[in-house]
Amino acid sequence: MAFEEGVMEMGLVRLEDIKDRTHRCAGCSQCFGGGGPYLPFADGYQTVSKWKCPTLEYYKTFSNQARSKAYFAREVAHKKLELNQELQKIYFSCPDCGVCDHICPPIPHMDISRAMKVELNKQGLIPPKSMALNKKMRNKKNLFGSPNVNRSKWAQDSDLPRQGELLYFAGCYASWRQPKTAKAMIHLLRKGGLNPSYLAEEEWCCGLHAGFSGDFELERDLAIHNVEAMERSGAKTVIFSCANCYRTFYSDYPLLVGELPFKVVHAVEILPDLLESGKLKFNSGKRVGVTLHDPCHFGKEHIGRRHELYDESRQTVKKLPAVDFTEMEYIRRWSACCGGGNSVTSSNDPDFTDFHSAKRCKEAKEVADVLLTPCVRCVENLSLASRKHKVGVEVRSLLEFVMERVEP
Ligand code: SF4
Ligand code: SF4
Repeated sequence: MAFEEGVMEMGLVRLEDIKDRTHRCAGCSQCFGGGGPYLPFADGYQTVSKWKCPTLEYYKTFSNQARSKAYFAREVAHKKLELNQELQKIYFSCPDCGVCDHICPPIPHMDISRAMKVELNKQGLIPPKSMALNKKMRNKKNLFGSPNVNRSKWAQDSDLPRQGELLYFAGCYASWRQPKTAKAMIHLLRKGGLNPSYLAEEEWCCGLHAGFSGDFELERDLAIHNVEAMERSGAKTVIFSCANCYRTFYSDYPLLVGELPFKVVHAVEILPDLLESGKLKFNSGKRVGVTLHDPCHFGKEHIGRRHELYDESRQTVKKLPAVDFTEMEYIRRWSACCGGGNSVTSSNDPDFTDFHSAKRCKEAKEVADVLLTPCVRCVENLSLASRKHKVGVEVRSLLEFVMERVEP
């Protein structure tokens, strides 16, 4: 494909373009959370008295909360405040979970956050751990700094073709940390009569962390490579098992490289039909109580640029035999963040991630013994915290769980 010039010149949003929208704070404090029994959410009024901004809840400082970040951005945009290390800490301590965007539609909180990181990045004001992660992505094409040829170890016995119309993009986390999810994806697609292809070492990191740390140039370079490799492979549809990779392709890539020459789908979008098709036979599986964690990247973050993917996981779980499904209190677009924050918060402050993942696991344990999530990145964070804090809830990838419930 011929790549268009970056729609927003290497940045999805520039501070200059949104500076007039940083002025709109009414001082209502609703974005702090816990401010009142009802909030006027886009889908009606909901009780959210216990909800708190994850950043405010953990750090207990108002400076790195949505209202303050809009204020600082305004001051920077109008050249009344210079970028500095303090501002770096403020903007890099938020996981960009996106809830404040829903609570406070007049102000583009997520765009402000990313635009400010672009400005910080231009001045080299990005935390050393984020810088190191971007270096690995630039040099090794993955988040782990491993030779990229190791990416396909999980697929060694799978005999996957490089060419085909349905391409699976495993991403860094499924490839190195959650290979069972990648194998489950291939198994379920094949059982459903589909013939997935795979790029192996020609697959590069999606670049999400680069974008969320303000380095859109790196994200765009990775995007160009991935899209060209996919086009060469003959892909008409690309399928994902990671909410982070899915979001990067769905939301960022069109802004960075123009309209994509293939369709982008997450596994949950095809699971209900696969299970309905009758091609997959269920086994008798042990009866178990489950609940679902919705990843931030399924819609609540990046409001208005993407449809929300919440019903599909529920339809999938409800089709499985011997499964008792119960919802947690904070779900769908009000789902609590696992604290990973696009690898920005998990790499710069792992204790922040651990705090929020443990909290989410405890919420899950109140209603079920198994916590399912359709994102490999969330699985990693939540399962680490569940083990460390002995929460007693089993964290599972939704794909793996489904695979175990069908005949081999
Ligand atoms: S940023 Fe929005 S929600 Fe927060 S205090 Fe200002 S107007 Fe209220
Ligand atoms: S994105 Fe989430 S953590 Fe960050 S300020 Fe908004 S509500 Fe708080």
